[in-house]
Amino acid sequence: AQTCSNAPVALYDSEHTSQALRRIRVEADLKDAIDQQLLEVFFQPQVNVSTKEVVAAEALVRWKHTELGMISPGEFIPIAEENGMIVALGEVVFIKTLKTLKTLDKLGCSVPISINIGSDHFLMHNFVSWCSEAVEREQVPVQFVKLELTESTLLNSVEEGVKVLSQLRSKGFKIALDDFGTGYSSLSYLLELPLDQLKIDKQFVDMLDKDKRSENLLSHLVGLAHELDLQVVVEGVENEAQVSFMEHADADLIQGFYYYKPLPQQEFVYLLSKPVN
Ligand code: C2E
Ligand code: CA
Ligand code: CA
Ligand code: CA
Repeated sequence: AQTCSNAPVALYDSEHTSQALRRIRVEADLKDAIDQQLLEVFFQPQVNVSTKEVVAAEALVRWKHTELGMISPGEFIPIAEENGMIVALGEVVFIKTLKTLKTLDKLGCSVPISINIGSDHFLMHNFVSWCSEAVEREQVPVQFVKLELTESTLLNSVEEGVKVLSQLRSKGFKIALDDFGTGYSSLSYLLELPLDQLKIDKQFVDMLDKDKRSENLLSHLVGLAHELDLQVVVEGVENEAQVSFMEHADADLIQGFYYYKPLPQQEFVYLLSKPVN
């Protein structure tokens, strides 16, 4: 639009107003979407770096709003975290993922599936017993259930984090540290945590295309994780050069659009159940 001297201020205001209105709308409708089971769960396959087989997956929530269309989790998850709906949302995703694991189990093609857990959810006093009861009720082999937690969730309180993670692992759950390297946490804190897997964030992978030095950094991160007996998943791999670097760096799993985008439940189950030729 053409501008006169006053216009930028006016534009700025109206943009803010519409952003605020959208937020109010999204917040109000999210509650209904959770209650009415309108949220879906997609599954993004994770591929073994050497064999290229699908060996695991991450559950990712999807919301198709009847009027606004697809709303990205990048928009509504932060809102849900602020207003406490993340617990109800997390429970929906958890149960849907267990049902998918149950389906895979019946077909004889189970793989571990990761579920993202918000901070307030993880810190609920009954989180561990709620998870265990759900797994028992749905009759899913617990070793296929992996919980993904971010640095900031776990470092809210390291002591509490260590305690809850230990309880979860003693029940048989697997634990992944998500978005590794994006926070400002000290490595020594992270090393205290009982973990199974480390997920290296996409921003490190993106650096590969821009800065040679990031190759060294990534190789060292993988080496460090392996010394701690942690499996390494690399997120956001989009091209062949990144794939061959991850082979060279000896990462374990790749999760990225180069192989698969998040798939609807049925497509994901079909992918795993069809015989490999
Ligand atoms: P995240 O946990 O880091 O999940 C990975 C995100 O990276 C997903 O975005 C996935 O679609 C995207 N991704 C994977 N590979 C590639 C790639 O090669 N290129 C690009 N450009 N993107 C890739 P998504 O599904 O939009 O989710 C965004 C964030 O929203 C997640 O980041 C997570 O923090 C949150 N989230 C999603 N689902 C849930 C959920 O069920 N519960 C909670 N608490 N948070 C969730
Ligand atoms: Ca994640
Ligand atoms: Ca991540
Ligand atoms: Ca992320």
